[in-house]
Amino acid sequence: MDIPFHKPYITDDEIGAAAEMLRAGWLTAGKKTAQFEEEFKKYIGCGSAVAVNSATAAMHLCLAVMDLREGDEVIVPAMTFTATAEVVRYFNAVPVLVDIEADTHLIDPDRIEERITGRTRAIMPVHYAGQPCDMDRILSIASARRLAVIEDAAHSLPAWYRGRRVGTMGDATCFSFYATKTITTGEGGMICTDNDGWAKRARVLRLHGIDRDAWQRHESSRFWQYDVVEAGYKYNTTDIASAIGVEQLGKVEAMWKMRKRVAERYTGAFGGVDGLAPYTVRPDRESAWYLYPVDCDPDVLSITRDRFIELMRERGVGMSVHFIPLYEFTYYKKMGCSGADFPNCRRVFERTMSLPIFPGMTDAEIDYVIESVVDIARKNKR
Ligand SMILES: *Cc1c(COP(=O)(O)O)cnc(C)c1O
Repeated sequence: MDIPFHKPYITDDEIGAAAEMLRAGWLTAGKKTAQFEEEFKKYIGCGSAVAVNSATAAMHLCLAVMDLREGDEVIVPAMTFTATAEVVRYFNAVPVLVDIEADTHLIDPDRIEERITGRTRAIMPVHYAGQPCDMDRILSIASARRLAVIEDAAHSLPAWYRGRRVGTMGDATCFSFYATKTITTGEGGMICTDNDGWAKRARVLRLHGIDRDAWQRHESSRFWQYDVVEAGYKYNTTDIASAIGVEQLGKVEAMWKMRKRVAERYTGAFGGVDGLAPYTVRPDRESAWYLYPVDCDPDVLSITRDRFIELMRERGVGMSVHFIPLYEFTYYKKMGCSGADFPNCRRVFERTMSLPIFPGMTDAEIDYVIESVVDIARKNKR
């Protein structure tokens, strides 16, 4: 069998919607993007949704609208994708790495407070694998210190924390519609916020600092006129992407249920297997199940995580690792980051591997992944 690590769930709905936009001839952001924003905002239940061309752009704009300055510090987990920390560097500000919890792989709230200084301006929690971070703890730390909370929700559409939906808790939440994410538009992102001022400025900054976008100008009699109010960016999405996004959003919970079913089968199968620790989700949360991480125990197994992945690939199962901790990379090493400060990250990085999980995975495929993992674990015990 050949099972990819990920397969996007694209049907004739998305293909038809994209084709319709191509035929209509309005290709950049316009009416369709406004519709996507409106439906996204309603789905999440937030004040504003601002569509951009990536979650990285979304996070960059959030830090811009909160006026992050050179030398400011922003708390980020040490185990995330580089985008979370890289956007802080755009301002010559400092990403301050914090260790994760060993079982959830989420930023450890107990470690956040000790890294806060007089220069800290924001916390950027990452809802790793789709599981929301401990937001009550994070929000209370932030409000006591007057810090902004900008959520990296690239993995977590849809997800819930104590009954609240991700996208309604922090000062701003950034979603990703990258090719592999839980809904996709090829490339894309969304900012959700209740702060009208931030939303308004993010709309201006996403298109060159122009006060009105192409569609608003198209609709007005003085269509050629606009003002530039600051040096903005080229972060708008397109109506082709938004047409795909509207279709994907319509099936966001159907696709979530399909992934959740895969996750439940994995968790049920790996629970009793020696040498494997299935991923922990706290009982007060619902994960979006973007990833299914399983950690292998080097004290029980005679093979390393890398070898485990190789053996899975030999059996035709696509695998990945999320994430290589930031301190492993040349760039962050040069900034003085070192694994010595992050014992849980080091432990998780030695053990964790991500299994295929995507909507449309067949029972035969799920069975095959389970059999392969269990068989490799059994055959390679110390
Ligand atoms: C995918 C990802 C991003 C970046 O999303 P883009 O839409 O590609 O910019 C950011 N953070 C995390 C944790 C991600 O996995």
